[in-house]
Amino acid sequence: MALKIVELCVNCWACVDVCPSDAIYHSSPHFLINPSKCTECEGDHADPQCASICPIESAILNAAGEAINPPGSLTGIPPEKMEEAMREIQAR
Ligand code: SF4
Ligand code: SF4
Repeated sequence: MALKIVELCVNCWACVDVCPSDAIYHSSPHFLINPSKCTECEGDHADPQCASICPIESAILNAAGEAINPPGSLTGIPPEKMEEAMREIQAR
């Protein structure tokens, strides 16, 4: 089982040093997780450290493909409010 970093990653480097398994590496266009090294932090930490420190919602997915920090979880902005704001901005 392994987590996955997707294209929303902004290459901030925050997750690299907190990974106990040295599973995260710099790649282009964004960081990636080596699935053969990722332990999901089991045995080392109660929570996946990369997802705990990642500042970008939906940038890291669990093994089921679900965002560990889903929309609204870090900003506190309800997803429907964000969609509304985006529609407003795009209509300008
Ligand atoms: S879940 Fe843990 S072991 Fe896996 S990449 Fe993230 S920090 Fe590393
Ligand atoms: S902490 Fe998140 S945004 Fe930053 S490099 Fe890691 S996955 Fe990308």
